[in-house]
Amino acid sequence: MDFQVSEEMSVRLAMIDEFMAREVIPLEGELLHGDPDELAEAVAAAQAKVKQMGLWAPNHPVEFGGLGLSMVDHGLFAEAVGRSPLGMSVFGTQAPDAGNIEILHKYGTPEQKDRWLRPLVDGEIRSCFSMTEPETAGSNPVLLETTAVVDGDDYVINGQKWFTSSADGAAFAIVMAVTDPDAPPHRRASMIIVPTDADGFNLVRNVSVMGHVGSGHASHGEVIYQSCRVPRSNLLGGEGDGFVIAQDRLGPGRIHHCMRWLGIAARAFDMMCERANQRVIGNDGSRLADRQVIQHWAAELDAEIRGARLQVLHAAWVIDQHGAKAARDEISAIKFVVANTMLKAVDTAIQVHGALGVTDDTILAYWYRHERAARIYDGADEVHKTSLGRRLLRRYAGDQAG
Ligand SMILES: Cc1cc2nc3c(=O)[nH]c(=O)nc-3n(C[C@H](O)[C@H](O)[C@H](O)COP(=O)(O)OP(=O)(O)OC[C@H]3O[C@@H](n4cnc5c(N)ncnc54)[C@H](O)[C@@H]3O)c2cc1C
Repeated sequence: MDFQVSEEMSVRLAMIDEFMAREVIPLEGELLHGDPDELAEAVAAAQAKVKQMGLWAPNHPVEFGGLGLSMVDHGLFAEAVGRSPLGMSVFGTQAPDAGNIEILHKYGTPEQKDRWLRPLVDGEIRSCFSMTEPETAGSNPVLLETTAVVDGDDYVINGQKWFTSSADGAAFAIVMAVTDPDAPPHRRASMIIVPTDADGFNLVRNVSVMGHVGSGHASHGEVIYQSCRVPRSNLLGGEGDGFVIAQDRLGPGRIHHCMRWLGIAARAFDMMCERANQRVIGNDGSRLADRQVIQHWAAELDAEIRGARLQVLHAAWVIDQHGAKAARDEISAIKFVVANTMLKAVDTAIQVHGALGVTDDTILAYWYRHERAARIYDGADEVHKTSLGRRLLRRYAGDQAG
């Protein structure tokens, strides 16, 4: 196992760190208190600089201008830009577009790539991913009820979705819908590209999350598909391939999420330690950093973050060496380990900041609101623990495949 970072990648990471500190983190005031339109302008200006620096979306496929990064390097990149909620957008790797780019690249027809993938990679349009429904359990998507019925040369889609993140302002959605209700459970559904200006695509609201309705990319849409008609040529992959494609979208994507979360954890840790060193707490001028309880928190958190980081890098290394399938256990484990480590880091940093921690004068409360969901999306903690635990225990029953 070798996590040695190449010289080329070290230079890139140094450039990213410097750019994040100088150009991106200062925009957080605008994110927390400013006007969304002005923020969008500032983000666009920062994106233009990132493109000039040759660092735009390095995770993209090489033929679309990406850098062909290994999974380990891809993770290191996500960690560096994860230090600010604006980093992913500024560097062109934000969800849900990053996952949609992967599946369009792998399954899209030449026409679909020309129409949707190319402008998405260039940052000219945004997209969304529309699978979860309010009335069926997202943790078991074989239950989903949205249908896509063939009518002549078209599919006619009916159903209700929510948490179609970033639907507001997106050019298209990739929708998961049942195309063959009689097929075996994992062959019932397909993925279909639906332009958001198609008749019957109704974004009925941005769902308020932790007190914030949000807008544009930072929003979670409820969408009603009402006899929404799209050509059959908008099918992504084959009919019935929905679950296969969903799996492709989620596997390596988790490295991306987990390393982004480690970027959050690292910055929360830095903020905690800086605050502990500044805040005078004793009559004798002693500081929070002089208190043993804070020292223990720092030591425990540092050890947890390092452990989580090694676990993710190891999972990324297994993917690089042996493919995503071989890393199934590692991927399940990092999803729940890192989500909890990141949330603990944010919570502890808030505690050390006292009242300041719950204000919007720092970025911590933003993360507290927005990152709680990490334990729910892309497979809730319990789902990953169940599938990993089941595989582990089966091996002890003599079933080495798990
Ligand atoms: C911020 C955010 C962004 C999202 N973005 C998108 C998006 O862009 N597109 C999209 O399609 N969806 C998106 N989702 C939806 C997400 O994928 C689902 O919320 C997730 O799959 C869980 O489904 P559910 O909410 O229906 O919860 P349920 O399936 O109802 O599960 C509820 C809870 O039950 C427990 N549970 C579930 N299964 C088991 C089990 N087998 N054993 C024990 N306990 C279990 C877990 O604690 C789980 O949290 C997003 C969600 C959030 C919060």
